[in-house]
Amino acid sequence: MTASRAGAIARAQRGFDEGEYLARLRDLVAVPTESQLEGSLPALTRYCAETMPALMRGMGFEPTVLDNPREGRGPVFVGTRIEDPALPTVLVYGHGDVVRGLAPKWSAGLDPWQVTVRGEKWYGRGTVDNKGQHLIAIDALRAVIAERGRLGFNAKVLVETGEEQGSPGLRELLRAEKHRLAADVFIGLDGPRQTTFMPEMKLGARGGVAFDLVVHLRDHAHHSGHWGGVLTDPGFVLAQAMASIVDRKGRIQVEGWTPKEIPPAVKRAIGALVFEDIPGLPEGDPDWGEPGLTKAEKMFGWTSVIVLAALTGHPDAPTNAVQGEARARLQVRHCADIKGADIVPALRRHLDKHGFQIVRVEPVLERDMFGASRTDPDDPWVRFVADSMQRSAGRAPNVVPNSSGSNPSDMFQEELGLPVIWIPNSYAGCNQHGPDEHALAPLLREGLGLMAGLWWDIGEGQTPRRDAKGTPR
Ligand SMILES: [Zn+2]
Repeated sequence: MTASRAGAIARAQRGFDEGEYLARLRDLVAVPTESQLEGSLPALTRYCAETMPALMRGMGFEPTVLDNPREGRGPVFVGTRIEDPALPTVLVYGHGDVVRGLAPKWSAGLDPWQVTVRGEKWYGRGTVDNKGQHLIAIDALRAVIAERGRLGFNAKVLVETGEEQGSPGLRELLRAEKHRLAADVFIGLDGPRQTTFMPEMKLGARGGVAFDLVVHLRDHAHHSGHWGGVLTDPGFVLAQAMASIVDRKGRIQVEGWTPKEIPPAVKRAIGALVFEDIPGLPEGDPDWGEPGLTKAEKMFGWTSVIVLAALTGHPDAPTNAVQGEARARLQVRHCADIKGADIVPALRRHLDKHGFQIVRVEPVLERDMFGASRTDPDDPWVRFVADSMQRSAGRAPNVVPNSSGSNPSDMFQEELGLPVIWIPNSYAGCNQHGPDEHALAPLLREGLGLMAGLWWDIGEGQTPRRDAKGTPR
């Protein structure tokens, strides 16, 4: 039998049908890599130093564990297979850390650290976010190597262990390891798809900027009978400052927070998106947000601002007093058209202009900050991957210009100069950050086929080439 594309896809899916994929997934899920918990470093290190090398043993990848440049943060696994430096190189991304297990909150009979199969649903922490997804990429690589005898390209499999913490240290690490991680394209498997019935690509992520608005007028509360109407009330000052940020229909009023327009290629891509009605998810409110935009344009092409929490006094036991302080935490999510670093300065100018000098803006750092990025929907790599997926699935994929959530796309785009393409293999109902996280077996199996087809096609020698500056040619 001669090696073929169909043969590679069949191999990947046979591995699924015969239980090998599930057996490997069990090994990955069993490691409690809860990066949000203190003391998780040993588990994160074990995942990189033992679990990943064992998973990829015999595949011809050189395993390396890179320490996180930030003290106490999880390491990064890199498996490298160079067949010929003249061939294109793909950087494959996944994350080995998971959110907290929350074991007591799972439904009866389920355990976050064991994969439980109930019909098409495979339960376990990390089954979709993200262990089950990087396993798809790796098992598809395995299938192509077996079928063709080689990949036909170079592959670097990078699995970090801090994604659920906002990837601390990853940017510095990418900068320091630029040479080791050099590639032509980034392909990451993560996140849910818009639909269960269509393959999908995502080309980046919206950025996130969180900050507290603080009105601190005095250190103590004072009797409301004596002082009400005499002392400035921080609750009302804060409410009015917040009311200046969006109008009564949720339209953003802060100059510099919204783009002049959605770029035409992005608008086209959004217009072509197909969605699926998932029972239990809310409808959009058509009268909330930027007028004239569709729901999809608001989600994937525009800026949003949300009040995450707001507080004055003690809501659980209000006292009769004029409060000394009021505060709220807000979060802005924005596309690559707006710079994250401009969000807080623009708000400062806006508040000053409206007479709210007294309102402090305190940026929230770490987990709540993430950058925006977007690969041009017209990039030749985007077309290449979309064509490959279309060949495998028999229909064109949904091409989402950027995830409405967050991921570390910007770091790979900026530090390594790569076009960033995400291929999600989960669905909106997967509970990925709560109890009862689960994968859908048909999507895992389909993903194995799509990825085997894609790896096969990249090895055929017809990929887009980049010149020394990284510009497609
Ligand atoms: Zn996650």
